This record gives sequence, C-alpha cells and structure tokens, in this order.
Amino acid sequence: MITLHTVSKAFSKQPVIQSVSLMIEQGEIHGIIGASGAGKSTLLRLMNLLERPDEGDIEFDGIDLLALPHHKLRGVRQDIGMIFQNFNLVANKTVEQNILVSLELARVQKQERSARVQDCLRFVGLESFSDKYPAELSGGQMQRVAIARALANRPRVLLCDEPTSSLDPSTTSEILRVLQNINRTLGVTIVLVSHEMNVIQSICNRVTIMENGQIRDTVATEPAGVAEITSDAGWFLTQLT
Ligand code: ATP
Ligand code: MG
Repeated sequence: MITLHTVSKAFSKQPVIQSVSLMIEQGEIHGIIGASGAGKSTLLRLMNLLERPDEGDIEFDGIDLLALPHHKLRGVRQDIGMIFQNFNLVANKTVEQNILVSLELARVQKQERSARVQDCLRFVGLESFSDKYPAELSGGQMQRVAIARALANRPRVLLCDEPTSSLDPSTTSEILRVLQNINRTLGVTIVLVSHEMNVIQSICNRVTIMENGQIRDTVATEPAGVAEITSDAGWFLTQLT
C-alpha cells in the first residue's frame, strides 16, 4: 500500500534516513520502533510527503507520490490520516469545530459535514462531547478526538506517531483498542510508531526496527492483545542482540 524504495533524507547535511526500503501492506498494523533520534517520525512524515526525500521513491497504491502535481497530492493525502503524541487539537475550537476544519480542508460538502462529525465521534465513543473544548478533556479523550478528526476524511491508512506516549497505561490500552477496532472494522491500514515495545507488540502484525536512520529488521509478530500490556521490554532487547 505504501512502498519506500531506497529513500534517504538529511537535515543540514546530517543524514537522518539512509537508503530505507520498506513496504506497508494493505490491512496490516505495522509497528516502527527504535530509540529516540532513530528517525521514526521522519520516516512516517516521508510516507505522506510532509517531508520530501532527497533520494529514492515513495509509492502509494502504485502511484509515484514524488511525480504528482500538488493538487493531486492533496487528494492522496486525504487517504492518509495522521495522529500525534500531543494530539494537535486547536485549543480555541470545540471538538466539533476541530473535526469540521479537516472536512472543510478536504472540501467535503457542507450538508454532509455534521453527520460525518457525529459518525466519527460515535466511533470513538465521544458522541456527547461535540461542544467541549480540548482543555475540558482528558489526554485519552483528546487523542480520541484526534482519531475522530483523522477518520473524518475516511482515510485508508492511519499514520500514528507515538499516539500513546503521553498517556498512562490504562488510557494507552484504551487508545490501542480504538486503533485495533479501526483496523478490524473499517479495514484501515495502520502504521504505529512507538519507542515502547509493549505498545507495538500488543496490536502489530509486523514490526520494523530502526537504528540510526536505517532499518535493522522487519519481523512478523503475533499481536499479544491489548489487555496483556506490561512494561516488559525484553522482546525488543532480544531483537537487538
Ligand atoms: P523520537 O523518539 O525522539 O521522537 P525519532 O526516532 O522520531 O525520535 P526523528 O524525529 O525522526 O527521530 O529525528 C531523527 C533525527 O533527525 C534527529 O537527530 C532530529 O534531531 C533530526 N531532525 C528531525 N527533524 C528535523 C528537522 N525538521 N530539522 C532538523 N533536524 C531534524
Ligand atoms: Mg519521533
């Protein structure tokens, strides 16, 4: 679904991603793990061209993203939702307005917008939260609003950059369950970046391990299940040695 061919990226001549080739398969939950500074966020941002590579190719469903004119890239980007560690909600807008902004940007017809907002809020279990402001919500609720906003444009892929890193363990489980539900019931492919192996291991089908801007390995995993989350990082360590 997303293919990177020998992609490289440097910032101020400092290589950050070095000749990375990776395939994200349709329908999978693909984890990306690695130490801080390994290049995980940059790799994710390359997948929807928030960063442009210096070298290599990026394909989405066989379309060469680098060759697309700007207006067509906008269309493809609607197929690729994204969520972040700090939720990135607009503080002075309500939950409903936050989601409406992305529908306006995507030029969804006006009469369809509020039904879409309600559908997405229902999906994440926040149907009665339309008029709340972000400051009135817990971290887990804010992340669910961010997920609802990402779903509003009906993406086929959801890129998740450390979506649970500022949440406590039980809220982490809650968000991971929502992501798994999105994958299973809506068929959305998920790329999940985290530096916590227990998070990755709980819902991912495959895991890519990054180190210093390169891929160390991609391995198939059996999702351990969200309820069994522990703080055990042992599995990751055995992969590195
Ligand atoms: P973390 O786990 O801390 O989020 P990461 O694996 O996501 O780390 P990146 O954010 O991709 O790592 O950063 C990789 C390297 O690239 C770091 O050394 C970072 O300082 C550098 N970098 C990332 N974005 C930029 C930028 N816009 N300008 C300059 N350097 C950058
Ligand atoms: Mg990062």
